[in-house]
Amino acid sequence: MFAAEREGVRDRIRGCMIGGAVGDALGWPVEFKGERQIFNRYWPDGIEAYDLNAAGEAEITDDTQMALYTANGLLYGETMNCLRGQAEPPRRYVATAYQDWLVTQEAEYGRKTSLRPGGISWLNDVEGLWRRRAPGGTCLRSLRLQNEAPGRVEDYVLAELNDSKGCGGVMRVAPMGLRHWQDIRALDYEGAQLAAITHGHSLGYMPAAVLVHIVNRIVYPEQPSLSLKDIILEARDTTAEVFAGDPFLPRLCDIIDRAVDLASQSTDSDLENIHRLGEGWIAEEALGISLYCALKYRDDFSAGVIAAVNHKGDSDSTGAVTGNILGALLGYDAIEEKWKEKLELKDVILEISDDLYSGVPVDEAGACTDSQWLRKYKSR
Ligand SMILES: [Mg+2]
Repeated sequence: MFAAEREGVRDRIRGCMIGGAVGDALGWPVEFKGERQIFNRYWPDGIEAYDLNAAGEAEITDDTQMALYTANGLLYGETMNCLRGQAEPPRRYVATAYQDWLVTQEAEYGRKTSLRPGGISWLNDVEGLWRRRAPGGTCLRSLRLQNEAPGRVEDYVLAELNDSKGCGGVMRVAPMGLRHWQDIRALDYEGAQLAAITHGHSLGYMPAAVLVHIVNRIVYPEQPSLSLKDIILEARDTTAEVFAGDPFLPRLCDIIDRAVDLASQSTDSDLENIHRLGEGWIAEEALGISLYCALKYRDDFSAGVIAAVNHKGDSDSTGAVTGNILGALLGYDAIEEKWKEKLELKDVILEISDDLYSGVPVDEAGACTDSQWLRKYKSR
């Protein structure tokens, strides 16, 4: 890669991670509000700027927290695979990192807990991550069960651990799309695996494959590069091939098509169009709303995340996924300063973004001896 191209990848990775956090933080104050409440309180156009907490920060929620733990698990896994010369799939490490996240939700920072931590995440040293921001019930339940009865799961998709199709799987998997793999189908499938760690319904994990595909194609464009719409349609088709025969596939493809059509053809308001796609509490609706907002505002990050959160549904998650896509597409530098300034844990998000960009540092012999890196991503 040429230097400019490398810089572009770094900017898109940062954009994806920070963009997701921005959408999450913007949507969080209205996550559980109805539309009358939203538009009364943030009159007349809805929430268009952060609603800061008492400390003057825009709070991130479980969506961003879990995306960070996804990244931590991926990087830990890549490091261990390098050190041990093995090829364990990311799902193994990411599931362990989610156990670390669980501890931050169920215990107090610095206090003893009966929960067994995953023990691989440097993020657990960050006190600011030990915050409960309405974490998803399915995520907590699934991870608690795995904590109580740990066992090796080879394939989470096949295991069908429950029947949930909440959006808690798709909202956290963007970092998987930031990895550079030869085989994008295998990457998409791994994205679905990461969602299936907690969400066993195929509509809970197939949207994760779609999002991972989209993010990956944006960050590592093919020549000639495709438009966002083309990337979305390609992601739909690839997911349909990977999960051929799944009875819920038509529902997923239908909502993707509807999002694409509404974004390109409808002259109705965003709110009306979002209502045609659902509320976003379930994964395929969260994906559909996010695709609509990202496509419609593909040149304008701020307009896209604002549209994505101003509805009665799961605003922080639709904001997060829209922010992931637009941030990757437009890059970190294109995100207005006002969104970065007050964003909680911005430095942590940037640090892990840059680790995702650099990947495991290896010497000429292919060994990882970077002590600073190993302090973060080797057994703790
Ligand atoms: Mg949330």
